[in-house]
Amino acid sequence: MQIHLSNTLTRSVEAFTPVRDGIVQMYSCGPTVYNYAHIGNLRAFLLPDLLQRVLRVVGGYDVQWVMNITDIDDKTIRDSALGSKEWRTEIGEQSADAKQNLRRYTQFYTEEFVRDIEAIGIRKGGFYKMPFATDYIPSMQDLIRRIAEKGFAYERGGSVYFNVGAWRKVDTYGKLFNIDFENFQEGVRIDADEYERDSVSDFVMWKGQKDGEPAWDFEFEGKNLPGRPGWHIECSAMANEILSLPFDIHTGGVDLCFPHHEDEIAQSKAGYGVEPVKFWCHNEFLEVEGEKMSKSKGNFFTLRDLLQKGVDPVDVRWLMLSAHYGSRLNFTFSGLESGRKARHRVQEYLYDLWERSEGVIAPAARHESAQALRTAVFQELANDLQTPKALAELFTFLNRNPASGVDAAQAAALLGFFQELNGIFDVWQFSPRPAQTLDVPAEVQHLAEERWKAKRSKNFAESDRLRGEIAALGFVVKDTKDGFALEKA
Ligand code: AMP
Ligand code: ZN
Repeated sequence: MQIHLSNTLTRSVEAFTPVRDGIVQMYSCGPTVYNYAHIGNLRAFLLPDLLQRVLRVVGGYDVQWVMNITDIDDKTIRDSALGSKEWRTEIGEQSADAKQNLRRYTQFYTEEFVRDIEAIGIRKGGFYKMPFATDYIPSMQDLIRRIAEKGFAYERGGSVYFNVGAWRKVDTYGKLFNIDFENFQEGVRIDADEYERDSVSDFVMWKGQKDGEPAWDFEFEGKNLPGRPGWHIECSAMANEILSLPFDIHTGGVDLCFPHHEDEIAQSKAGYGVEPVKFWCHNEFLEVEGEKMSKSKGNFFTLRDLLQKGVDPVDVRWLMLSAHYGSRLNFTFSGLESGRKARHRVQEYLYDLWERSEGVIAPAARHESAQALRTAVFQELANDLQTPKALAELFTFLNRNPASGVDAAQAAALLGFFQELNGIFDVWQFSPRPAQTLDVPAEVQHLAEERWKAKRSKNFAESDRLRGEIAALGFVVKDTKDGFALEKA
């Protein structure tokens, strides 16, 4: 099926065709491993996971996916420094060697990161590569030299900068992001990896070594400049070395448009002479009470925070996938809970289908209704990953086609479709209903909900009466911390 994607480069939804026949090359800006990822970060990694699955399942493509690990930048250097308060006892001994400390520190958070993404269904086996930036320093140095040879880089005080003023004379700086050049002053330099839009300046590609920092030798224009790469050069060089330019899709959070991605385009185009990426895809923020979830605001949850509260990581995946990646998503526990109910509703339907088909799974094409559902759902996914619309199609179908009216052949074809769809959502089981799952008749469920409402509005006479009706049907209702539970009498 033809896939359409929203492209930040052209600010429009475009038909997607890969540069190379049948295979899609994709690069995602990975985590900066100086701390545990928060669930806002995880949203940024679920976008490429969803995208690669839709490209495979709906588009029929092979996908090569690279997600780098930013193990060197201002923050990893700051927090891995000898004696920094950020060191954790489980990481190991600190040493006098700054490079060793950096590797040990970032290795620890990389392993924690992999644990987190696997818990929410991003499987490492699905990656083509997840490389450390520090393993690609020669490629970064090569790119900086190329940029200098073309006249867009210069050295000051042991650091090397990208000359934005010179670049603007030959190409656009501001392809993804409208840059206001009012405050731009030629030759003003900025050393920080992250900066605001009103400080557009020459940005650093190679940072001269400061006391105690890890450093690599760098032969540049006849001098050795010990130091380390800036953040932006990492992605330009790694994408070029591991994939080939131009490649198909680059992803990241919307906050990376400027300066990170803008600088990446300028460097790649200046150094390699190629517009590096066909489609730029950016996810919107995960928010808490209307504000971006971020470490600096202190309003964030890590996945382990949620697990400690008893949250199932599959519900985190489901919540994030059920919103469109291009819209802001307000994270709430009630949203997590209603998502869980919706996911379970589908799961119950699948158990019913399994009973009806006696475990037989057939291709969706074997039954008209399964095929029609497949087309409707896949069309929404192919349309810029419209997961909310795809799920709306799914629930409309469930409402109109209760499992009680589905015959064995239809059940088998529907299971075939759901299994294909699970190649994308990855949240359902295909098995008989587990024995411990209580089969609550709809009538009992309804009575229990009515009783709960009566009880909440302090209508105790009515709630007792309903308890009696439920008991007459062979069930016991119990109150729990935030609702009720049913058991067989
Ligand atoms: P970092 O580890 O800080 O480099 O960020 C990793 C990814 O998370 C980047 O693609 C960011 O754009 C993205 N990101 C950071 N905060 C949020 C948020 N609240 N919601 C969604 N994505 C985010
Ligand atoms: Zn990047």
